[in-house]
Order: sequence, then C-alpha cells, then structure tokens
Amino acid sequence: MSNYYTDVPELKYHLNNPMMERICELKERGYRDKEEFDYAPQDYADAMDSYDKVLEITGEITADVIAANAESVDEEGPHCANGRVEYASGTKQNLDTMVKAGLNGMTMPRRFGGLNFPITPYTMCAEIVAAADAGFGNIWSLQDCIETLYEFGNEDQHSRFIPRICAGETMSMDLTEPDAGSDLQSVMLKATYDEANNCWRLNGVKRFITNGDADLHLVLARSEEGTHDGRGLSMFIYDKRDGGVNVRRIENKLGIHGSPTCELVYKNAKAELCGERKLGLIKYVMALMNGARLGIAAQSVGLSQAAYNEAFAYAKERKQFGKAIIEFPAVYDMLASIKAKLDAGRALLYQTARYVDIYKALDDIARERKLTPEERKEQKMYAKLADSFTPLAKGMNSEYANQNAYDCIQVHGGSGFMMEYACQRIYRDARITSIYEGTTQLQTVAAIRYVTNGAYASTLHDYELIPCSPEMGGLMERVKEMTRKFEACTNAVKAAQNQELQDFVARRLMEMAAVNIMSHLLIQDATRAPELFSKSAHVYVNYAEAEVEKHFNFIRKFQADELADYRK
Ligand SMILES: Cc1cc2nc3c(=O)[nH]c(=O)nc-3n(C[C@H](O)[C@H](O)[C@H](O)COP(=O)(O)OP(=O)(O)OC[C@H]3O[C@@H](n4cnc5c(N)ncnc54)[C@H](O)[C@@H]3O)c2cc1C
Repeated sequence: MSNYYTDVPELKYHLNNPMMERICELKERGYRDKEEFDYAPQDYADAMDSYDKVLEITGEITADVIAANAESVDEEGPHCANGRVEYASGTKQNLDTMVKAGLNGMTMPRRFGGLNFPITPYTMCAEIVAAADAGFGNIWSLQDCIETLYEFGNEDQHSRFIPRICAGETMSMDLTEPDAGSDLQSVMLKATYDEANNCWRLNGVKRFITNGDADLHLVLARSEEGTHDGRGLSMFIYDKRDGGVNVRRIENKLGIHGSPTCELVYKNAKAELCGERKLGLIKYVMALMNGARLGIAAQSVGLSQAAYNEAFAYAKERKQFGKAIIEFPAVYDMLASIKAKLDAGRALLYQTARYVDIYKALDDIARERKLTPEERKEQKMYAKLADSFTPLAKGMNSEYANQNAYDCIQVHGGSGFMMEYACQRIYRDARITSIYEGTTQLQTVAAIRYVTNGAYASTLHDYELIPCSPEMGGLMERVKEMTRKFEACTNAVKAAQNQELQDFVARRLMEMAAVNIMSHLLIQDATRAPELFSKSAHVYVNYAEAEVEKHFNFIRKFQADELADYRK
C-alpha cells in the first residue's frame, strides 16, 4: 500500500460520521484554543480537516517506514541486557519517526503538547499502524495509558508527566502477576508507605508486561495490608528515572515479536499514588482496561485489513486449472467473508469509539463546570452505550482477526504456510488479540449483564427505527427477526433461573447480540454509502443470520441436565 489511510476509503467514511460534529464541539469547547494555539482548529470543518491530514501522515509513515520494517522487526525482536530492554533497530526507527511527526500524546490537551484529538481519529491511527505491524502498534498505542493518568491524576501529576508522553516517552500498564491474570483481584505486588521519604515503595513481581521497560508505568498494587480482594488495591505511577524496577527477562512468543513482553522485578521502587487509595482496580484500572480494549479492537481490525489485502492480492495473481483462483466460488466466498467481517467489525469499533468520545468529553467538561441536566443525561446515555459496546468490539474483532488470518492462509494454499509470505506473521500476531486485555471469555463476562438487563435489545430496537434505503429494506426485516430470536433465547435463559446454565450459554447470547448490532450498523453504512458497503451488508447479514439460527437452535434444545455431560 502506498498510504494506509487513503488506500482504505472506509476509514474516511467512518471519520466523516455525523456524530463527529457533536464530538468536535465538546472536545474543542467551542473552539476556544484558537486564540492561544495557532494550530488549533477554528471551527468544525477545520477540526475535521486536521484529523484527515494527521491520518494521511500516519498512513504515509506506516507505508514508508513501519511496513517496510515489519519483517526485520519480526525476525530481530527486542533484546534484554542488564535489566533493560533494547528495541529491534526497526522499532527504534519507527518510534523516532512517529515522535518527530508529533504523533504522541495525541488525545492530550494542547497545553501539555498534545493534539487534543478525539478517541475516534486516534483509534483510526492505531488501526492503521497495526495493519502494518501489530507488535509496533502495541508500543506506540500504549500512549493511551496517559488518558487514565489525565482522568484520575492531580494537576501536579498532569504537568509533570503528560508533556513527557507528548514528547515521545513511552508507557506500560503493569497489572498481571503469575497468580493474577484474568482475576486481577488477586494482585499481590506490595505497596507500602515510606514515611521517612514521603513516598510509596513497590515490591514484587509482574509478568507479561508489554513494553515493560517503558518510561512511565501505571501499576496495580496492594496498598492495604491484610486485604485479599479488589478493595485493597490502588493504582501507582512509577517513573523509570527513579529506578527500582528491572526486566528479568523478555518472553519468547508466538507472535507480535517486536513488542517486548517483560517479567518485571520491583525492588523498593519509589512510586506515587494516582487518584485515591483502594479505587485502583474498582475504578481506575477498569477505565484503563476499557481504553486498552478499544485499542486491541483497533489492532484486530488492522490485522483483518492486512489479512484481506494479502488474501485478495494473492487470489488475483495465483492461477490454477487455467484461471485465477479468485474466480472459484470457494475462494471468493472466503474473500467476501473476510471483507464482510472486517467491515462489520470496523463499524462496531468506530461506533464504540464515538460513544466513548462523547461521554469522555462530557466527563472532562464536568471537571471545569457543572453539566446542564441535558448534558448529564447525554453523558449517562453514552457512558452506558460505551460500556456495553466495548466488550463486543474487543471480543468480536479479536475473534474475527483470528478467523480472517486463518482464511488468509487458506487462500494462499501451501505458500501460506511458508515464512516468505506476510500471512504467517498476520496469523501469529492475531492470536494474542483474543487473550490479552481480557480473554474473549472475560469480554463475555462483561457483556452478559447487558444481555440480561435488556440494554442490547433496547439498542437494537432503537436501530430498527433508523430509516434505511429501499435496497436495504429486505435485510432490515431479516435482522428484526434475528433480534426476536435473540430476545426469545435471552428470555428462556432468564426464566430457567440457573446461573451455571446462563454462564454456559453466555458467549452464544453475546454473539447473537453482537452480530445483530453489526448487521444494523452495516445496513446504516450501506444506506449512506452503498458503493462501499452494500456487498458486505448482504454477505454479513447472510452470515449473521446463520450464526443466530445456530445459537437459537442450540439454546432452544439445550437442557440444563446436559451440563453434566460437559463438566469434568
Ligand atoms: C503477549 C502478552 C502481552 C501482555 N501484555 C500485558 C500488559 O501489558 N499488562 C498486563 O498487565 N498484562 C498483560 N498481559 C497479560 C494478559 O492480560 C493475561 O495473559 C490475560 O488477561 C489472561 O490471563 P492469564 O494468562 O493468567 O490466563 P488465565 O486467567 O489463567 O486464563 C486461562 C483460561 O481460563 C479462562 N478463564 C479465566 N477466568 C475465567 C472466568 N471467570 N470465566 C470464564 N473463563 C475464565 C480464560 O478465558 C482462559 O481461557 C499480556 C499477555 C501476553 C501473552
């Protein structure tokens, strides 16, 4: 690709969504920065133009530098010596280029050196970078940890730390420990207050930490002695300049080789509290992980785009039985399916990002002044939508990235299994997306409450009221019927009043909700831009309908006493 943004017209389409006007108005607070910063936008059109330009620059750097380095970074990987990480040489060049282009701390206010970007265009940049190198995408996009420091840190912490991230320093989020993975309530890394030096000290081990030798770390640690659950945990900021944390080793992994996954040893490391004690997991890490989950959804969409590009290019070139393999129905079925899941997953990703943007911008305004009753209502509505959509966007896109990478190799035949082709790297890199930042099973745990409390059903009913083009009318009727089946399953599971049964079918219910939501989003997209989305809307609704039918049949026929056949 010559430009990873302009070569994918679907991205510009999503940027130009009508909700962006409200997002810009809130984020730019009536465009007040124009008096102070000459690069701040004058109005909505100017703001949109600046996002477009930055995306174009990101797309160009991605093509010229990041994509060009991807294979060598995958082969070389980072090194660890004397407790410190050294990136692969291509990674260093990638980072340096991004920093020089001013693409760090993108969402931070201008007074700290940021670009004051909404989450939506920033997420697009993350998708673009990941399409070329998902491992580098991790290092670069960990900058979004700064959102959590901005949200919950104090003024003094803002002024000391945010400018450093905007200037190109990197971050990590240190949560996982050997005995605390999905269950972060079990975190035991110890935080004790050092009265003599008026600071906190961290002692213990973290493992699987991406970019673990970063300049600034957000660390989840146990500050309340004698506690064993999430209420005894607080969030800390560790600054590498203070020392006390060493990298014991870098993990040897299946994929994302450029991204150093570190085991960290904390020895009396000086740290400062971020926010209030005891709210570390309950409030701050939940917010941190929601942001990171959107990031992994973007990484997954980038990988799906890469899988589509590779599969499509190969299928056009490769000839068997006297014709290009793209002409065989079995092959174009795979290609259409990759594209439909890519378009559906991307629609869900950016719808989620827009919901996040509105509630976060209103949250930020609430720190300056009291919100009006209408604004409070708006904030609550979008916060709930964002919370319910985030596990779907992460869960579904990460599974789609894996399925699409698998099909990409299949389209390549035996060549797909060879290291010379990029599809093997995409396949290896995709595998982690459904594991980190909460496995798909944990996304289901987060999503199931919105199944049972009717939130997804209510959103689906709202979407049914959005007018669609006559061409999409037939699909809309089919999706309405799919929603009836989703509701019938939900009601049957609720009526059984059996928690184990509910947990057992939770993923099926979550997927039913998700494919129905994505079907609606594609119908809306195909109504606005049929030339881009009409095909995918048809292909995806065919697929989604079959998925719903499959789950409907399973849940309808399943008897609770059959659980015994599955239990070990
Ligand atoms: C390459 C890589 C990078 C990472 N980067 C970071 C990072 O930067 N920072 C960080 O803090 N962590 C990071 N992690 C850790 C990652 O988030 C965890 O590995 C992940 O959350 C899963 O935890 P676990 O590995 O302990 O698996 P486990 O929690 O042991 O899970 C094993 C299996 O049990 C299932 N399971 C567990 N609990 C439940 C439940 N309640 N319901 C249903 N199923 C359940 C899981 O879905 C999974 O299938 C990274 C991991 C890797 C591999």
